[in-house]
Amino acid sequence: MQIQFLGAAGTVTGSKSVVRYDGHAILVDCGLFQGVKHYRERNWADLPIPVDEIEAVILTHAHLDHSGYVPVLARQGYRGPVYCTPGTRELCAVLWPDAAHLQEEDAAYANRKGFSRHQPAQALFTLADAQQALGLLREVDFDQLLPLPGGLQGHFSPAGHIIGAACLSLLWRDQSIVFSGDVGRPLDPIMRPPRPLTAADVLVLESTYGDRLHTHEDVADRLSTLIRRTAARGGKLIIPAFAVGRAQTILYLLCQLRDARRIPALPIYLNSPMAVKATEIFYHHADEHRLQASDVEKLRHTVNYVESTQDSIALCGRPGPMIIVSASGMATGGRVLHHLRQALPDPHSAVLFIGFQAPGTRGDLLVRGATTIKLLGMDIPVRCHIENMASLSAHADQQEMLTWLASLARPPRLTLINHGEPTAADALRACLKRQLGYEARVAEHLQTIDLQAYLGGD
Ligand SMILES: [Zn+2]
Repeated sequence: MQIQFLGAAGTVTGSKSVVRYDGHAILVDCGLFQGVKHYRERNWADLPIPVDEIEAVILTHAHLDHSGYVPVLARQGYRGPVYCTPGTRELCAVLWPDAAHLQEEDAAYANRKGFSRHQPAQALFTLADAQQALGLLREVDFDQLLPLPGGLQGHFSPAGHIIGAACLSLLWRDQSIVFSGDVGRPLDPIMRPPRPLTAADVLVLESTYGDRLHTHEDVADRLSTLIRRTAARGGKLIIPAFAVGRAQTILYLLCQLRDARRIPALPIYLNSPMAVKATEIFYHHADEHRLQASDVEKLRHTVNYVESTQDSIALCGRPGPMIIVSASGMATGGRVLHHLRQALPDPHSAVLFIGFQAPGTRGDLLVRGATTIKLLGMDIPVRCHIENMASLSAHADQQEMLTWLASLARPPRLTLINHGEPTAADALRACLKRQLGYEARVAEHLQTIDLQAYLGGD
């Protein structure tokens, strides 16, 4: 058995690994590269495996950096099954058509402005490709055995990262190859903790925060101080957030603060049609999160949902104080750009980042103190207050990862570290070796690793 990393090696996006065994080939995760152009261009490169050789695709969760390449595969003619949990399927049905829409808009914009490598500019995938891809999804419940070609079996266990997120075990002749996917946190405000691992002969482990510890700060305290100060200045608080996951977490915290009268009764807007739909999906998966139905109901009543483009434009024209939660989380695109254009030059306003900011993205530049930023074709001066609360991340930090792994009865024979910037991945590798005695390696882009020596039995 061999594994080849087609993405998320040396970076945090483009998760895609091909597993080859006995003449069979399956893909684990099928994500888009996101962030800076250098990586996004990889979405246009041919895969090193012909599409008709892929017999099955398995998704750990719905975030586009793990699932968003499935419509591209469908565009290239893939018609095999794409296995995922029910929650992942529901979220993909929200995320993929929206991503297709953005791709089509970007291509049309490039054609109007006359800049593109392709003449005419093309969308990476279209709405029709997204619909085709949605038709390939096959639901597999947590803990239900999934038969795969050649006698391989799959198994999903809850990863606590977002609704539907799973760790995938591939069971092969009494051995297990475990893909962690994105690992959630033991004490997330809304998600239940990841289930402890019980066995892994080979482990493919994410390392987004492999070199960091989240601060154990009083999130409610810091958030309420920021909101009260911004409101007193009459400014707007803009919170860029991933539509799926972090948007719901921050809204829940805002509702709690408002109920406890720790913040003034400002209007709270959720300006992202995707995030609105993703919030509704919480109703269907009560066993995966900590919210009561009444909490989800409260979100509905406390938050003003903005769906149409006209309402989004009207919101930009409205004076503060107010709180606006909008996607995308790293300010790489989406409606949040229009709110940032207004808020960044305004010393009364504030911007709060709450998730991982990939190097080179606008979110990263702002968090690191940029004084001007390129946005919607303009150079925008940054005069507003910028804050970053990584403690609200949906990824386990270094220590939380070690604690999660501590339940393994014996160390994996090999741990392959992916889904992290090089320094984060290497720090986690060194830490696993030092503290747990693991044989761990950092995965490299397009590298193939033969697992046979590690799967030979005891
Ligand atoms: Zn994720």
